[in-house]
Amino acid sequence: MSERSNADPLTEIAPGLMRCDTGYLRSGHTACYLLFNGGHAAIIDTGVGASIPGILDALARLDIARDAVDWVIPSHVHLDHAGGAGALMQALPNARLGIHPSGAEHMADPSRLEAGVRALYGDEFFDREYAPLTPVARERMATLDDGETVFVGQRPLEVLHTPGHAWHHLSLYDVDSAVLIAGDAFGASYPGYIQERSLFLVPVVPPPQFNPEAYRATLARIIALAPRRVAPAHFPAIDQVETAASLLEEMLDAAIEWTWQAASAADLNQRLLDGWCRWLPPDATREQLERDFGLDIWLTSEGLWLWRSKQERKAAR
Ligand SMILES: [Zn+2]
Repeated sequence: MSERSNADPLTEIAPGLMRCDTGYLRSGHTACYLLFNGGHAAIIDTGVGASIPGILDALARLDIARDAVDWVIPSHVHLDHAGGAGALMQALPNARLGIHPSGAEHMADPSRLEAGVRALYGDEFFDREYAPLTPVARERMATLDDGETVFVGQRPLEVLHTPGHAWHHLSLYDVDSAVLIAGDAFGASYPGYIQERSLFLVPVVPPPQFNPEAYRATLARIIALAPRRVAPAHFPAIDQVETAASLLEEMLDAAIEWTWQAASAADLNQRLLDGWCRWLPPDATREQLERDFGLDIWLTSEGLWLWRSKQERKAAR
């Protein structure tokens, strides 16, 4: 289970669709996707500011000119997905930023987003991993509605609003390859945990917008779409889509139960680490869970704890 992704950051997911490792935190952690057709290209998710030289390098290796990139589309504004968007847009003269309507303001003026992320992760983490954030000019943005189709050359990319992880989350369905580029709508996993006979991934539901009904509805919508593969931002592509969705749902149901039993967010974090071990493949340990998924599980304990306090406030009204 200690397998690391190979050194090459580029992996083919389908013809004309490449995964590019953004290098955020460690290799095999956070991906973006490059889609190309007929001399045009789109980049889905951007990683952080430090990811941009690697993405530009990947374009050069694929022989895609910078002015051939028509679209940069973050799945949502969380900084592991959109932190590099402003810097990337500066390098791509013809690109438009495609974004969920509720995410656009944060891309134009990232100050509120920055304050929220600093409050959650602390200044040291923010300054090390995310600073500085570059705003995107409003005139270069296009808001993307649910059901809309974006074209990359002749290749259609369908926009699906996929709330749950965040309200302003979208995923993109590449019709030609039947791959859903899911962002964070379909859990997170890491190299070695997605195998033909064993599958382990976790639902990640960070503050402040987790909504369990929306999360479940999004999973059901993805199943109904019946993609051949799901390509999540964190990290290996998933071919066993229905099995993975059931797993996410079971693990989320259990997590919500523990949320009501927990005494604090820290206690919930321990309960998630203990409880989700049940779903680990037989050769994996709790230590590996903590090492590989620790940040996701911490984020999820914070997200669930905030959700619980909102429910309690609502009930007290
Ligand atoms: Zn993420």
